[in-house]
Amino acid sequence: MGKTMANVVICGAGIAGVSAAYHLAVKQGIPDVVLVDERAPLTLTSEKSTECYRNWWPGPGDAMVRFMNRSIDILEALAQESGNVFRLNRRGYLFATADPARIPDFTRAADEAAMLGAGAVRTHPGDSEYVPAPAEDFEGLPTGSDLILDPDLIRKHFPYLSERTVAVLHARRCGWMSAQQLGMYLLEKARERGVRFLQAGVEGVDVRGGRVNAVRLSDGTTLGTGTFVNAAGPFQKRVGRMMGVDLPVFCELHVKVAFRDPAGVFPRNAPLLIWTDPQTLSWSADERAVFAASEESQSLLGEFPAGVHARPEGAVAGDVFLGLWTYHTDPVEPVFPLRHDPEQPEIVLRGLATMLPGLQSYFGRLPRPVTDGGYYAKTQENRPLVCPLPVTGAYLIGGLSGFGIMAACAAGELLAAYVTGSPLPSYAPTFRLERYEDPEYQKLLENWGASGQL
Ligand SMILES: Cc1cc2nc3c(=O)[nH]c(=O)nc-3n(C[C@H](O)[C@H](O)[C@H](O)COP(=O)(O)OP(=O)(O)OC[C@H]3O[C@@H](n4cnc5c(N)ncnc54)[C@H](O)[C@@H]3O)c2cc1C
Repeated sequence: MGKTMANVVICGAGIAGVSAAYHLAVKQGIPDVVLVDERAPLTLTSEKSTECYRNWWPGPGDAMVRFMNRSIDILEALAQESGNVFRLNRRGYLFATADPARIPDFTRAADEAAMLGAGAVRTHPGDSEYVPAPAEDFEGLPTGSDLILDPDLIRKHFPYLSERTVAVLHARRCGWMSAQQLGMYLLEKARERGVRFLQAGVEGVDVRGGRVNAVRLSDGTTLGTGTFVNAAGPFQKRVGRMMGVDLPVFCELHVKVAFRDPAGVFPRNAPLLIWTDPQTLSWSADERAVFAASEESQSLLGEFPAGVHARPEGAVAGDVFLGLWTYHTDPVEPVFPLRHDPEQPEIVLRGLATMLPGLQSYFGRLPRPVTDGGYYAKTQENRPLVCPLPVTGAYLIGGLSGFGIMAACAAGELLAAYVTGSPLPSYAPTFRLERYEDPEYQKLLENWGASGQL
């Protein structure tokens, strides 16, 4: 096959590559942008997410909050112009605890978020009346957070939570959407402005004199180009190596379980529910005896980490909910199809039942759970890499970890600004590769606190 030309070649048509193409073609007017993917667009990681968003991010510094606020601004503008085709809601994230010793942590997190720009904290009872979040829509609702410490108020608004719950923190500029619909909307708009999609693998990037010169595809085509964008998701490290660049990213497996709920236990109007306490799981005496006897299953009797979370999926009248709990976070090589723990649905359900005791009715008789997921491609401090690479004309939109859906709009915008030489937002330096060469940043990394990962 022969050689054709393109202004920009983007490797990867997940949400990152699609958003980059949209911002280059639609917002910056760049002609002849080519998206290359060996799979159908949006099908590897981007359609497997929990589809949630939040402006609720820890420091150091306020760059993550400003970046996510910008991304949510763009999401809201897209929702408005499209008649909300991707069903953006603002139900919020609800962090819950049964441990009184955790209340000061909730207070600190809410104060920190407010200081970083996520919005003011309101304590209840006290400051004002708590405003519940509607199931649909995102406009005219509070930002910041509501810290509820009164057990009666918790019971009134969240009657489904464990009676042991002593505090909830409701982060408000947060919610979820249909990531697939968002991606398809961006892709359609990009195609209307001339973006071409080629289904092929990127096999090599030719670099001449330190500059991108061409991209070689698995179908034998060579695309002559001076600009190449690595948006390869879990394979971004591999694609980086094609240009001799070793990216500081690794992969973690994250699994999501869709449960059917014929008994209607899971609250259909709930926010994303997150249990912030580590826990041991409740097993029967027989189960305990079986697990104790086998080295492989003994860990089921040990302590599991904080962070099991869930949300209702689909229409308010539906009966599916999603549950997630990543209790192994070792770096792994990305392998497809995924290999995951067959016990995961039962473990996630048991973890969730600590927060939502009504789910105990499904113990040992799960109605056909469906498991999928993918890899978080992440940096050590869980912040993205959206930046030029050391090869002239090469760029990366990566390290999007567990926040690539919510960050895609601001990340695509930032990437397009680099490619076109447009003014950069003030958070741009925070997401560059060069940060790892800065001795001050290296010191920060040594004592990095919360990563913000869910
Ligand atoms: C279980 C789970 C839950 C999540 N929940 C959330 C959430 O609630 N909110 C949120 O914001 N994010 C969430 N995420 C994270 C989010 O899904 C990812 O950050 C995001 O999808 C990454 O998008 P991407 O475009 O970088 O990668 P991908 O969607 O994986 O796209 C990369 C594309 O590159 C292509 N590619 C790779 N190498 C090549 C090559 N050599 N040639 C051609 N094509 C190539 C692949 O085929 C793929 O289509 C979650 C992720 C998981 C796994």
